[in-house]
Parts: sequence; C-alpha cells; structure tokens
Amino acid sequence: MTALPPGSTIGILGGGQLGRMLSLAAARLGLKCHIYSDVPGGACDVSAASTIGPFEDVERVRAFANGVDVVTYEFENVPLAAAHAAEAVVPVRPGPKALAVAQDRLEEKTFISGLGIPVAPFAPIHDDASLEAAVRAIGDAGILKTRHLGYDGKGQIRIRSAGELKPAFTSLQRAPSVLEGLVPFAYEVSVLVVRALQGETRVYDIPLNTHKDGILDTSTVPSPLSARDAARAREIAGAIATALGYVGVLGVEMFYVPEAAEPLVVNEIAPRVHNSGHWTMDACLVSQFENHIRAVAGWPLGSTDRHSDVVMTNLIGADADRWTALAAEPATALHLYGKPDARPGRKMGHVNRLKPRS
Ligand code: AMP
Repeated sequence: MTALPPGSTIGILGGGQLGRMLSLAAARLGLKCHIYSDVPGGACDVSAASTIGPFEDVERVRAFANGVDVVTYEFENVPLAAAHAAEAVVPVRPGPKALAVAQDRLEEKTFISGLGIPVAPFAPIHDDASLEAAVRAIGDAGILKTRHLGYDGKGQIRIRSAGELKPAFTSLQRAPSVLEGLVPFAYEVSVLVVRALQGETRVYDIPLNTHKDGILDTSTVPSPLSARDAARAREIAGAIATALGYVGVLGVEMFYVPEAAEPLVVNEIAPRVHNSGHWTMDACLVSQFENHIRAVAGWPLGSTDRHSDVVMTNLIGADADRWTALAAEPATALHLYGKPDARPGRKMGHVNRLKPRS
C-alpha cells in the first residue's frame, strides 16, 4: 500500500467541473489526470489526457484503466459495470460498493438506518400494493423520489394528500421509488469527510446549505450548529465512511431538526467531492479536491483546518455573466468551469467570499 509517486496518473470517470477541480488539485502535487467521459467536459481542458466514450463500453473503460495507476470518479451515476471493468485492472477508489449504495435511494436509506443513524421515514413503492402500504406507513404527505438517477431535486414530487400519490407515481413512469416522510428541519448542513487508504478520517468544518429551485445556492461556514451537534454530525459521517470501507471524500447531506432527540437526520450521501465543499478551495490549506486526490493516491491526508470564514455562492446560468464584477470584488475568489453556454440551471462556476475567522 505505497503512495503513488509524483508523475503517476489518476484516472477519473466523469469530465465535469468536479473532475476539472480534482485535476487542478492533482497537478499541484505533480500528479497527472486522465479523464474518461461520455462528452468532452471542462475537465478535459486541464488534464494530461482524455478519452471520450460511453461508460457502457467496458472494453474502452478497461483500456483506459490500463493506462492509469488508480481510478476514481466524479459523479455517482457511473454505471457499476464501468467501475467493475476498471477494478479488474487497477484499484478503484472509492470502491464500487459506495457507488452501489449511493445509486439507489432504497439501498442508501436501508444501509444508513442499519448503522443506527436517523434517516427520514421511508417506504418502497414499485406497484399499487406497495403504494397503498407506503401511505399506511408514512401518512399522506411526503416526497416521492425515484430510487435511481435523482439529483438536485430531479425525479421527486412533493405529495400533499394521499390522492396525489398515484398520479405522481404514474408521472414518474412507475419507476421504482421511495416515499419519504417530511422532515421538519430548521436548516440543512453537510459533512465532508475524507478517509485515507489506511483508514484515518478527517472532517471539514460543517457548512449550512441553502437551495434555490432544488439546486445548491450557498454554503456558509461556520454554520450555527452547536459544538455538540457538530461533533455528532462528524461522528455520523465518519461511521458511514468507515462502514463503506471508503477511500476519498464523501459528502453526507443532513437535515437539522432542533427539537428532536436525534437532531441530525441523513438525507443522502454523495460518494465524491461535493458542491457544498467548494469553499475549502480558498478557506482551507488543503481543499476537498486535494484531499480526495491524496486519499486515492495513498498519500497522507492534508489538513482540513479552516483559516477563514466563508460563503460559497454557486453561479448558475446567467449568474456567471457578471464575471468582470465578481472578479473585481475584494476578498472574493472566482472559479469558472469553462462551460461554453450558460443554460438556465447549469452550474457555471462559484465564488468564495472570505472574511477573517470569527
Ligand atoms: P434530495 O434530492 O434528496 O437532496 O432533495 C432535495 C431537497 O428537497 C433537499 O435538499 C431538501 O431541501 C428537500 N427534501 C428532500 N427530502 C426531504 C424530506 N424527507 N423532508 C423534507 N425536505 C426534503
């Protein structure tokens, strides 16, 4: 289990902004990245090599894996067959188990609640009988979410009365789903934990997250969580990472319910670097991207300490058109992802606005 020396190549499945920022962080350590993506994304512009091909083409994925020293991924919907094809050639970190759990909301909730960690009440729906059973178990208000391929609020429908559930299930093409009870949260936080090859875990300070139209809008650090609740949040994230035998950065999204006996309820996990950790690029000595690269390359982890208070704001669609004004703002770091067209809802970049640590 020796560390990959500088000059080694990390293969990344996925070519979007997360891959781009991973590649930039790897470059700082003298490591190269080779991107495998189905479309030429912003990661290809800053990487030593890229292969454009479908993730379903396992021969192609295997050939890609043959040219790199380790494989990681930057989105959670990498087909499992691609991860397994790569794993037959080189180590895949985090391992495909984390992918399998995160790709299926039912598996995810069952796994996390099996660790004794609170999640929203949930019931599976796959036909009329399970739909009726779900209403009996959860009640007549909740959120219907598809088990697979949901993100940024996609593939989910708010249910306000029992009569709405059946049409909602139909509008999701009766895809296997879960009905979740509504969690009466005060706000949402996330925990970015990094786990090394040898099992050590480190956790970044916990951001408070706000959303707009189902997409992350801001992450603010520090959050108002008490020291006790923050310690519990860290413990939960560490327990999930350890139970998965995880290597790299794991994002754990949580609801905060102040009056509850167990105030932190896990919403979902992301087996990758996470948008709510982009503030670490400027407010920490070692960012989530660099720590992910260090972990998958078998290096010692870097410091997760924060030297500044920070608000990260996503630049969605036309927000990025203000780049000249944003570039001129004091104490602000501007990050643009090099995407050619600012379609509505598209993540184009982000800014980190720093203040001295309070
Ligand atoms: P998700 O795609 O699961 O991250 O959900 C998107 C957003 O919907 C979350 O960030 C919450 O704001 C809200 N949400 C999801 N599930 C629940 C729930 N069970 N109770 C209350 N709000 C929820």
